Amino acid sequence: MAVTVRFAGSGDSFGSGGRFQTCIVVDGPRSRVALDFGASSLVALARQGIEPNSLDAILLTHLHGDHCAGVPFLLLDAMLGSKRARPLVVAGPRDLERRLGEIREALFPGSRIMTPKFPLRWLELAPGQPHEVLDLVVTAQPARHTPETNPTALRVEVGGKVVAYTGDTEWTDDVAKTARGADLLIAECYFYAKPVPWHLNYPAIAAHAHEVGARRIVLTHMSAEMLAHADDVPEECAHDGLVVTL
Ligand SMILES: [Zn+2]
Ligand SMILES: [Zn+2]
Repeated sequence: MAVTVRFAGSGDSFGSGGRFQTCIVVDGPRSRVALDFGASSLVALARQGIEPNSLDAILLTHLHGDHCAGVPFLLLDAMLGSKRARPLVVAGPRDLERRLGEIREALFPGSRIMTPKFPLRWLELAPGQPHEVLDLVVTAQPARHTPETNPTALRVEVGGKVVAYTGDTEWTDDVAKTARGADLLIAECYFYAKPVPWHLNYPAIAAHAHEVGARRIVLTHMSAEMLAHADDVPEECAHDGLVVTL
């Protein structure tokens, strides 16, 4: 059975191009997971006709709002609105349960007294170690991004395929390790020419991303400046609704 990757959200933090924040849905043989879940992700899923409670797991790269702040919205909907019964795994970087608890309480004051009636499991992905998450094997590697976000890049083995996702990061040996030989490398490409710390821009992609032997590369998380040049680069650029079949 094929593995499909759907870009429900392919945007940056700030709504560039009218795109939703990062939310990448991977359907494997036995599970559906989201890679990152930005604040706008429930809207992004609805736009794609995807029921949030069809997700078995959410895998987070780091604790910036455009990558994780949709989780409290999903949990509140699951508890209050849609009455989720199906188990959910939320996996991600160090300290994610406490930090997302703080984010949830900031977004929905008073919500800390609510406890899910469905099985909810928090899983910290210690960098460098493979972790079994449902029928996936997920390996996080340290990323070079705002340190307070506990940043990682993710390599996901599912259904005999490998999906690698840089998250937000500069190019590093660990990012190369994450991407090596992947069937799909999803790389953030924040800017086309502007140098920017803690992110990938197009010159870094052009210099490094083709060295790792990934079969397919899709660029995402593009600013307005990068979107204006999307047609000028040979790499495939994501848009909301893009489906990649592996
Ligand atoms: Zn970030
Ligand atoms: Zn971001």
